[in-house]
Amino acid sequence: MASNDEQQPLHVLFFPFVAPGHLIPVADMAALFASHGVKCTILTTPVNAAVIRSAVDRANDAVRGTGAPAIDISTVPFPDVGLPPGVESVVEISSEADRFRLLEAIRLLREPFDRFLADHRPDAVVADSFYPWSTAAAAEHGIPRLSFLGTSMFARACNASLLRSNPLEGLPPDDPDAVVSLPGLPHRVTLRRGQVMDPRKNELEWNYEKLTNAADQRSYGEVFNSFAQLEPDYVEHYHTTLGRRVWLVGPAGHASEDLAARGSAGGLAPEAERCLRWLDEKPDGSVVFISFGTLTRFTAAELWEVARGLQQSGRNFVWVMSESDTDASQWMPEGFAELIDPGEHGFIFWGWAPQRLILNHSAVGGFVTHCGWNSVLEAVSAGVPLVTWPRYGDQFYNEKLILEVLKIGVSVGARFSASKLEDRSEVINGEKIAEGIDRVMGGDEEAEAIRKKAVDLRGKARSAVEKGGSSYDDVEQLITELMARRSSVNVL
Ligand code: UDP
Repeated sequence: MASNDEQQPLHVLFFPFVAPGHLIPVADMAALFASHGVKCTILTTPVNAAVIRSAVDRANDAVRGTGAPAIDISTVPFPDVGLPPGVESVVEISSEADRFRLLEAIRLLREPFDRFLADHRPDAVVADSFYPWSTAAAAEHGIPRLSFLGTSMFARACNASLLRSNPLEGLPPDDPDAVVSLPGLPHRVTLRRGQVMDPRKNELEWNYEKLTNAADQRSYGEVFNSFAQLEPDYVEHYHTTLGRRVWLVGPAGHASEDLAARGSAGGLAPEAERCLRWLDEKPDGSVVFISFGTLTRFTAAELWEVARGLQQSGRNFVWVMSESDTDASQWMPEGFAELIDPGEHGFIFWGWAPQRLILNHSAVGGFVTHCGWNSVLEAVSAGVPLVTWPRYGDQFYNEKLILEVLKIGVSVGARFSASKLEDRSEVINGEKIAEGIDRVMGGDEEAEAIRKKAVDLRGKARSAVEKGGSSYDDVEQLITELMARRSSVNVL
């Protein structure tokens, strides 16, 4: 007879990094695992919990009464490190001093993590790569730790190659355009020096990446919000060249019909309703969507060029802008107000837009993106071609994947990496932006080929998460393995 313990569902603790781009896919993943019968808990702090609360509530509502275990959010206080009350995530960090405080807070989150493991003894944890100490902490409790970063396998493989071989060493230090070649990858991947992490510029970041990469390597395995047919060579590369165990479970959240209002505090906001109604009026494929995730900030000069680019493209657009950019005199070129005032050609969305709903609207025919992985995957799932404008970090690798491997987009030609805390002198001009939009939305052969590839991938993304698809099977396989592990541990 099965013991009491064996009848319990598998319990997985998810422990996301304190940024929406990490929390959102973790909430999606927890919903996915819960739909496979897994008891999921998400451990985070109050402000971060609020980012995913409505998505988790909706996931729980969807399975209520079916016997599937509900997802719990376990909140712990944000460590007191001298940040103002309510500042608990990367989004609100605007100075180097605060960044250091946040790093300290992250280190201090080990204590509540430890406590949760001791008190609840989950069968496994899926902890963010940015918590490298969680590998050792989980090992001390005899609990397998799977790592999750929320980027592509391609980007992680590129980063691992950079860290392993440091090809920057042999290059002229002051030439940002020097070509960096990343060895040992399935494709020939080259970037510019100015686009990759540089230990001479930021030793802390370089060492932290080394630490996270090493901790992930020591983990039980790695979970990716991606799917095998999107980057098959990199699945193979991970298994055979790097000898790392991976499960690709994505696109998480995209199987669900309920795309509404994810990440926002309540249901669909009136502004979101207005935007979707505006899109309903537009012909299929006629609107370019332009949005840059949760962490990107633009200078007024850049915004001015974006506005000029949209103007010159002559296309309809939805542009998501930050509420801090409301002073139009800083960025609005002549003639632009006429495009948005009657709302005939343009819709400016202030604040949190329902991105997945917009991308899945038939009126949307192109997406100007910073190449954050969630945005890329959402566009892939919606079959929308991309105009790439990476800003920093993994975004430049994701751009390479989009342009050179998947061939579902074109670039505006960004040459330098700079986070929102670093100086940004590069301003992409409006002509480049308009040209990029035309190259994916226009009528020539190149645009048609790009759009066809994007639509093909949408089909593959959907199949991956259906019963019998590769991601569905990876989730099942991981659950079976962890269940078997629990039984064998209990026998010992
Ligand atoms: N997002 C959204 N509405 C917004 C801004 C962002 O729904 O107005 C979501 C977007 O759909 C994606 C996530 O926030 O799921 C951003 O993640 P990504 O990896 O693209 O970028 P990051 O913010 O981490 O740079």
